[in-house]
Amino acid sequence: MSKSVQGMTVHTLGTGGGPIVSGSRAGTSTVVKVDDAAYVIDCGMGSIRNYRSSCAWPDLRGIFLTHHHSDHIYDLGSFLVTGWQVPGESFSRPIEVFGPGRPSRVPALDAEHAVQIDARVAGRAMTATTEVVDALLDKVFASDICIRMADEGREEPHNWVIAHDIEIPAAANADPVEARHPQMEPFEVYRDELVTVTAILVDHRLCFPAFAFRIDSAYGSVVVSGDTAYSENCIRLARGADLLLHEVMDLQAILATFPDGPTRDGIEIHLRESHTSFDEVGKVAQAAGVGQLVLHHIVPNTPGAADVQKMQQVASLDFDGPVQVAEDNDCFVVPVVPEHETQLEKAEATA
Ligand SMILES: [Zn+2]
Repeated sequence: MSKSVQGMTVHTLGTGGGPIVSGSRAGTSTVVKVDDAAYVIDCGMGSIRNYRSSCAWPDLRGIFLTHHHSDHIYDLGSFLVTGWQVPGESFSRPIEVFGPGRPSRVPALDAEHAVQIDARVAGRAMTATTEVVDALLDKVFASDICIRMADEGREEPHNWVIAHDIEIPAAANADPVEARHPQMEPFEVYRDELVTVTAILVDHRLCFPAFAFRIDSAYGSVVVSGDTAYSENCIRLARGADLLLHEVMDLQAILATFPDGPTRDGIEIHLRESHTSFDEVGKVAQAAGVGQLVLHHIVPNTPGAADVQKMQQVASLDFDGPVQVAEDNDCFVVPVVPEHETQLEKAEATA
């Protein structure tokens, strides 16, 4: 039987959550493949290596960043520079990068908190995705790029990477202090002949903007939650999708890995209010009516610290469909092939 490349699949390049380096999971990253085209969502630490295990450079069309937390963008520079004109290992077309624009101010819980935050960050500014890409190509990797242009005859890398700041529709009335995840409708971010990508703002506490993405193709639909607490917007985006890839956290398990101290208290509030617990995530999938729930962005990500069997079992209590906890380099077919059809195919293959 010849190997078909037609169809829609999801490959988990990195399933660990948080800025802690894990010995067992790469940082959050997912590739959705539609026929021979690859669309990457987030670029966590170590994901570049797993991308190359499941995809080829010429297939890459787009990179979509849910938000600018470091654990979602550590490998962005690796993606941009590694696929740039290495013989036989290169982009076949300019790749497009979509991500958050620069917020109008540093996000805060309310007006009073905003004053404290302004004093604390002391003039620091946040950056837009276009600025991050420019900084990588024109500052961080500038020496490498100049040398390779001079030495190997490579072309201008900006011709191969086109960055976009995702524009939030004005009708949403989103604001980094007053309304970080207002009730809104999903909006289109990208479209080509194979996919449409839509986005919505989710609730990642002070991380603004933070998006969930949905990729629709002729084969089916996949939603990636991004980092979020239980989010009605995420449910709205995921309605009827074939596969929901959702973040998950075991708060007590991650707290058990931290020593006592003031930073532990700060991070406990951040974690509690900006992520989704394993006993809430099944409710998201059920409310959205998705076909399958896959858990990733596992927190804690250190080897053995999260009881993934417990996560799977508890999430299953609230959701009628199948629940799986992803490991790195797992592959999920969209839409899910029912068990009896897989058995039938196996029987036919061996007949
Ligand atoms: Zn985050």
